[in-house]
Amino acid sequence: MTVLLDALGTLVRFEPPAPRLRMLLAERHGVEVDEDQARAGMRAEIAYYRREHHRAGDRAGLAALRRDCAAVLAGALPEPAREIPVDALAATLVDAIRFDAYPEAPAVLDELRARGHALAVVSNWDVSLHDVLVATGLAPRVDAVVTSAELGVAKPDPRPFAVALEALGVRAGGALHVGDTVAEDVAGAFAAGVRPVLVARDGAPEDPVPDGVAVVADLRGVLDAAR
Ligand SMILES: [Mg+2]
Repeated sequence: MTVLLDALGTLVRFEPPAPRLRMLLAERHGVEVDEDQARAGMRAEIAYYRREHHRAGDRAGLAALRRDCAAVLAGALPEPAREIPVDALAATLVDAIRFDAYPEAPAVLDELRARGHALAVVSNWDVSLHDVLVATGLAPRVDAVVTSAELGVAKPDPRPFAVALEALGVRAGGALHVGDTVAEDVAGAFAAGVRPVLVARDGAPEDPVPDGVAVVADLRGVLDAAR
């Protein structure tokens, strides 16, 4: 069988970035901001990133996007932060945002592979997802990675799923897609002819779940769904 997996909220999570941003601004740039200011800055940056991340389909696009994100962050922080050179602030911003794998993720991926399943990540993310998967130890545990920014099209469009299946050399029939959103993961999987599995980590999913969709509390549930 083939198992496709979303990244954020499914395989990896990010730590709240504001405390780390605050610490790095003080350490590296001598700029003091309070907790609320750091949070407001990150909120503005994240909103901008979500709108614009499709631009980062290659390394040059990623570098340009990170500079623009740093400029948005600076604009949302108190005056002294705006004196920080944009490239330096972009580096600090990148270091403030840390991802880690959900605790059960490595063992579940290893078990799925041990059973002979082919695995691919299908994510609405920029090209830096490859770095995140390396840093979190997940890269060697999957066979292919498809990002929306590199492809130029995002879930729920079926194309990212089709590209992942093609990379694995398999057909949609018999494949699963595991993800944490109804709008992108479940809808996209249906559109691609792949069976969706919804990860609802905090209990009930936010959106109504279509009939016939398996809901699991974390990735361990995928081991049953993939039998
Ligand atoms: Mg997700």
